[in-house]
Amino acid sequence: MPEVGPGGASRPESADARFWNGDYYNQGNGQEEIFDKLKEECGVFGVFGHPDAAHLSYYGLHALQHRGEESCGICTSDDGSFHYHRGMGLVKEVFDRDKLDALVGNRAIGHVRYSTSGSSQLGNAQPLVFKYRDGDLAVCTNGNLVNEPVIRRELEEQGSIFQTSSDTEVIAHLIARSPKDLVEAVKDAFARLIGGYAFLIMTKDRLIAACDPNGFRPLVMGRLGDAYIFASETCAFETIGAEYVRDVQPGEILILDENGLREERFAPMERRAVCAMEYIYFARPDSDINQINLHSARKRMGQQLALESFVDADIVTGVPDSSISAAIGYAEQTGISYELGLIKNKYTGRTFIQPSQELREKGVKMKLSAVRKVVEGKRVVMIDDSIVRGTTSLRIVNLLREAGATEVHVRISSPPFMNPCYYGIDTPNPGDLIASTKSVEEIRKAINADSLYFLSHSGLIDAVGGHDGEKNRGLCMSCFDRDYPTKVQFELAKATSCSCD
Ligand code: SF4
Repeated sequence: MPEVGPGGASRPESADARFWNGDYYNQGNGQEEIFDKLKEECGVFGVFGHPDAAHLSYYGLHALQHRGEESCGICTSDDGSFHYHRGMGLVKEVFDRDKLDALVGNRAIGHVRYSTSGSSQLGNAQPLVFKYRDGDLAVCTNGNLVNEPVIRRELEEQGSIFQTSSDTEVIAHLIARSPKDLVEAVKDAFARLIGGYAFLIMTKDRLIAACDPNGFRPLVMGRLGDAYIFASETCAFETIGAEYVRDVQPGEILILDENGLREERFAPMERRAVCAMEYIYFARPDSDINQINLHSARKRMGQQLALESFVDADIVTGVPDSSISAAIGYAEQTGISYELGLIKNKYTGRTFIQPSQELREKGVKMKLSAVRKVVEGKRVVMIDDSIVRGTTSLRIVNLLREAGATEVHVRISSPPFMNPCYYGIDTPNPGDLIASTKSVEEIRKAINADSLYFLSHSGLIDAVGGHDGEKNRGLCMSCFDRDYPTKVQFELAKATSCSCD
């Protein structure tokens, strides 16, 4: 259970000095990342029935860029002819006007992707496009299939040859091998899958959207004039001026063709389990999931955090960008003023040239700065959304101390993250999750905080405010409580489970 760290504790004892002095900026995971945040999954976007399908997809994917920065792609259909372009990098880097103009057609599916290390290659960029007996088939997905290795092995034993290491290719093979018509083949294929996924599939005459039976990953449908639009998040609708219609429901399959929209199921809804981390951290604050606005939900998390763990302080600040909403909520609830104590430099993104080793020691400051005039001499409550390995929190606490904060009280707007995710989030090995091996007090010392508190399990569920009468009010909380909503074949699951492919 979460516990309140001792407020006003002195700085760490000598046993913890390694967390405070020397190499702390690089200390931790041994990887090149300066920050150790969880990696988001992927984003999907689809258009059916609009002459500017490619351009709409470009803007839609740009709005979903936060869900994947490694690669992206768009595939269009023009009376049965497929045109596609995929590349490594951001949407704005991969596409230019000429490339978009070449993607003719009034239907499109698109994708932005993160990868696990080692699988960051163009071959795995999506949408994947295949030839099957009725023509072309384009597939993209957000999520992860728990039983992908089992199905892949089975298909290989039956003669299938795979081109990629991607989950998405498995579903394409299942569809292609089925003797049934496309929609029935897709339903049969989905019925075999275990995991968290939102799929978009395009053939010469159809666009199909589907969500797993637990609804782990968000997928929404909208309208733009007569056209239908699908997206991982509603923020993409705002960008292109589309109107939200509804969320795709767990176990549902939506089929668009020349006859319009068909709403069917490939499986009954099982226990609804929308990813809690979408609400806490992943999705954009201007998006809604199941009609719950993310900024508002995060504010309620901050308010609840304040109710559970008030500490006397001078200012509240949030770690940008995902924790600002919760920090505003904490400040509102306590009456302590919210201040911009931390500023993120938005221009040191993925492509920033790694500094020399000497400068890397200060690398964190290129991405995040403490505002000295704001925090100097102040007791600071620092709100963050999660602690993964602990290295990020340590760096940020130290930034605040170096800028003159007299006390740093860390409040986390989620329970301790202590279990791997099998549903499409790239999580470190369980042993690297600091909450899986350390008590709250040990974590407090490790991150050099004066006090530390994690939002309670029930506080998080109530703050999101999902579906009454359902377990966890319809949230997946497995990374906090290890209560996985599906069968999880631990022996088969990948150590880092997001393939999003
Ligand atoms: S285990 Fe955690 S990160 Fe994974 S789907 Fe569930 S809530 Fe989301």
